[in-house]
Amino acid sequence: MATFVKQQRLLDPQLLLLNAGDDFIGTEWDRKAGLDAPAAFMNLLAPDAMTVGNHEWDKGLSALKQYLDAQDNKDVLAANIDFHGHEIRHKIKPYVVKQVKGKKVCILGLTTMYGLPGSRQMGPLKIQEPYSAGRQALKSMEGQGCHATVLLSHLGYTSDLVAASALPGLDLIIGGHSHSFLWPDPDSPPAFYISNEAESGSEHDSTWGPYPTYVHNKGRDVPVVQASWGSRYMGKLVLNFKPEAEGGKLAGIKSEVFLLGGPKSEAHVPEDEEALQEIQKWRKW
Ligand SMILES: [Zn+2]
Repeated sequence: MATFVKQQRLLDPQLLLLNAGDDFIGTEWDRKAGLDAPAAFMNLLAPDAMTVGNHEWDKGLSALKQYLDAQDNKDVLAANIDFHGHEIRHKIKPYVVKQVKGKKVCILGLTTMYGLPGSRQMGPLKIQEPYSAGRQALKSMEGQGCHATVLLSHLGYTSDLVAASALPGLDLIIGGHSHSFLWPDPDSPPAFYISNEAESGSEHDSTWGPYPTYVHNKGRDVPVVQASWGSRYMGKLVLNFKPEAEGGKLAGIKSEVFLLGGPKSEAHVPEDEEALQEIQKWRKW
């Protein structure tokens, strides 16, 4: 992933790298090295924005705050949290407006109400129903002059499809949480998936739909994307805008998916030297 991100940043230093959440649970790293290691890895990738996954709460609010504090210049987004005054509210905002090449890209975050830990970890926080919170946030974004409005979602693919038709004004949804394997031609997934014995019979073997999946909403088609789990592949979206004389808003997207290598992948991506050094530094076992 580090190699791919660096290659893409060389091609376009202004690209936005977006992270749909669930950063640090599910690998040996959080169990054996704590959260400082994933924070260091994330600093290396340096995403421009992330939304909060349900697993971000697993280790409690002070651990999450520490994790977020350890990272530079990243906007953490979720519009459907009632913080009840907890100080973590200073780290998480509903949306952000990014200026890219003269265009305002507005990114709204929403997180799931499901798969949450108990009140010991969540403290006073309550996750609100995402669609009405999303609608409210989109309303408050109306005066921002957004050329493109993106939902960075941790709701899961099926809920993203609902959001695409239920939330007015969304141009694009980038999702996570459900580990949904989407592929441009869902009937011809890459060999990486069909030949990987370790994953055989798991939910990750079959495609959930096309990449992107288009959802019709009031005369427009809203693309919904998600990139499975565990850095199997990454999506690249190029946003095309209408001429300024016609309002300059998003006209459409061009999408590509890139396999990121791995032992059984059909696509080889060389490992990044800097990332390998960071891994060596933190691996104490
Ligand atoms: Zn999740």
